[in-house]
This record gives sequence, C-alpha cells and structure tokens, in this order.
Amino acid sequence: MSEHKSNLRPPTEVLTRGFDPKLSVGSARPAVFRSSTYVFSSPEAAERAFDVVSDRAQPLPGEHIDLVYSRLNHPNAEILEDQVTPLEHGAGSALVFNSGMAAIMTAMFTFLRPGSTVVYTVPIYGGTQHLIRDFLPLWGVTGIPVPAGAGARLDEVIRAASPTVVLIETPANPTLTMTDIRRACRTASALPAENGRGRPLVIVDNTLLGPSFQHPLVCGADMVVYSATKYLSGFSDMIAGVALSADPEVMRQVRAKRNLFGNILQPDECWMLDGRLPTVSLRMNRASKNAQRIAEQLARHPNVLKMNYPTLFADEEQRSIFRSQCDYPGAMFSMEVRDSKRGAFDFLRSLRIARNAVSLGGVETLVCHPKTTTHSGFTEEEFRVAGVTDGLVRASIGIEDWRDLLGDFEQALNCV
Ligand SMILES: *Cc1c(COP(=O)(O)O)cnc(C)c1O
Repeated sequence: MSEHKSNLRPPTEVLTRGFDPKLSVGSARPAVFRSSTYVFSSPEAAERAFDVVSDRAQPLPGEHIDLVYSRLNHPNAEILEDQVTPLEHGAGSALVFNSGMAAIMTAMFTFLRPGSTVVYTVPIYGGTQHLIRDFLPLWGVTGIPVPAGAGARLDEVIRAASPTVVLIETPANPTLTMTDIRRACRTASALPAENGRGRPLVIVDNTLLGPSFQHPLVCGADMVVYSATKYLSGFSDMIAGVALSADPEVMRQVRAKRNLFGNILQPDECWMLDGRLPTVSLRMNRASKNAQRIAEQLARHPNVLKMNYPTLFADEEQRSIFRSQCDYPGAMFSMEVRDSKRGAFDFLRSLRIARNAVSLGGVETLVCHPKTTTHSGFTEEEFRVAGVTDGLVRASIGIEDWRDLLGDFEQALNCV
C-alpha cells in the first residue's frame, strides 16, 4: 500500500493512493489478486499476521503484515478501501462488503445486543426495514420507526429510548424527505453516558446523495453505510456495499464481524468498483444537473400533480435542511401522475428511453412505480406516512442528454 498523502484533494487522492504499481509488476492500474490464501514470508511472519488479524495485537506504525486468507483481507479490498476513503469527507477508513445490505447487517450485528433499541427513520430501504422490523426482534432488539424529516419527534424518541443505534436514511426514498443529520447527532451526543449504554451510535445510509453531495461524518455521524451498487459503481452491473468512519475503534469492531460473517467483497468486484471511483463525482454531477432541469420543467406539466425534488421543496424546514446539508439536489425525483395507478402505468408503458426498473444510481435512467414494487410490502398506514400514493412514480436520472430525457418524459406524460 502506498503512503497516504493527506494534503491532496479527493479527486487526486482517489487516483494516487492505495496502489503501488511496484507490487503489481509495474501495471499502471491494479491487477486482480484472486488467490484465496497467501504464502507467508516466514513462520514468524505467519504467527504475527495471525496475532494481528485475530485482534490480539495491533500493527506497529509502518510494519508490514503478511496477508493471510481472503475472507479476512485481500489486496483488491485494501486498494479499494484506501481509495474510497478520501471520497467520504471526514472518513479515516473504509470496509467493503458484498452488498449494501451486508454492510448494514454487519454494522447492526456489531453493535446491537439483546435488549438494545435501534431508532430509524421511515421510509427506509425495504431490506433495512425487513431487517429491523421483522428479523432483529427475534434477537431481542427493538426497532422504533420515526417519520423522515420529523426532527422534533426524532429528538424526543432518541432521548426517551436511549437507543444503541440511530439509523438515518436521508433523503428518504421515494419522496426525498430530508432528515437533519446534525440535529440528530447533537441530540444523541448530549445523552448522558451513564444511561448504561453510552452515547447512541449514529449511522447514516448515504446511498442517495453520497459521497459527492452529502457528508454525514462532517455533520457528526459516527458511521456512513452505502449500497455501492448504486452511484459508487454507477453502471447497474454489480452488487456491493461500503461502511466508513473516522473512528478506528468502530471500524475495528465491524471488521472483526466481517471476518466472522465472511461478507467481504470479492477481488473481481473490488477491482471493478475501484475503477469506477475516479468518475463518481463526474457521473453524479452530470446526473444531478440533468435531474434538476427535468424535474423543474416537468413540475409544470399539466399531468404532473406533484413533483418531489429538493430544489422544489415547499416546506421551509425541508428547504433549510437541504441548503445546509447537501451540496447539490441529486439525480432522483418522484412525481405524482394524473389518474392514479392507471396514469402511472400508462406513463411507464409509454417511456421509450427511460427504462422501467428498480434500483438507481446508474448512468442510464430508470423509472419505477414504488407502490407496487420497491415499497409493495408497506401497510396502508406506512404508505400514508411515507407519501407513497397510487400515482407516484420514481425516477433515477442518468447521464443521457437531458433534452432527450425531457422529451421522453413529456411524450409519456401526454399518453396519460
Ligand atoms: C439499494 C439500497 C440498499 C441495499 O443495497 P444492496 O447493495 O442492494 O444490498 C440500502 N440502502 C439504500 C438506500 C439503497 O438504495
């Protein structure tokens, strides 16, 4: 691993740290190391490596520790983790996982115990909701949902519940309702340490606006998690997850659980993702500019009853969170189409460029109907709280020419 040059800016760092061509026969880009096991330089080096990976010893500054076995660590994960770290402002290190859900699940199992409480914003990603609402209770963990954007309510619940973990997903999918990360972190950090569990750990799922437009660690969060399947990878062709933190102790604990669960990202996927990192901010910037132009125009279309997009927020508190928390509005919007479910389906059926698929964050534009797909497991009450109506469609805008996309959306809306 190359030396960390911390005076460089993220777009330079992502291309210069974490990879030493000398260790890959001089190749200018990283090689893929597919070995499951590594040959030790000596029995003493093997003993030392086991002491370190088993957490019985800490490496000395500058000490070279032999690699052991690829469930624990491998060169492509090390390269990727080194290179993704500077993209997340305030992060000290990263851990890569074989999905976003693997990152979230591992973080939860690292810190929660029977009797623990996790406070989480809703709507939240469906897999995360299933984990907290249906699975963690089997292990004695209580989940308390709080509607996204309800800052005062979140304060109250954090104070009353003294949770072990506060999990915030912001903006919320599909309405983009924003939760104030700084406020939640302030409330959590003011809890007295003598509540028996210490200060709650604030974890933010930054998939929708990170790493380019929203920086939760700078706002005071303890950890950020990602579905790298989305913007970080950007081409809708792989599944991956990342967890980042400024706190080495937090990362040490999560790493120990990843070693145990075996959900590290595999070398080929690490190599693919690693090659995508230098263009994350280019792709996100272009997609966000496209989305803003399209959302602001479509908001005036007679068959669009409501447009959810950060630059069009009507609520003063939402506008203020957006201004103070996000650099750009991002590439997702959702809109309520005239004529309810039939209108939404007519719209989806009539699209020629944008494709009807779930997921987001790719270079190609994807559109879906949340009520019958991504959010179909919700109860009527959850639909109401989350603002998921029959006529709502969600768009993840890509990097096509925005004028072609706008034309496509307009012709499809005219078919409603
Ligand atoms: C997709 C997604 C996840 C889950 O990630 P996978 O890579 O599919 O496991 C978690 N959170 C958010 C916000 C997502 O969009």
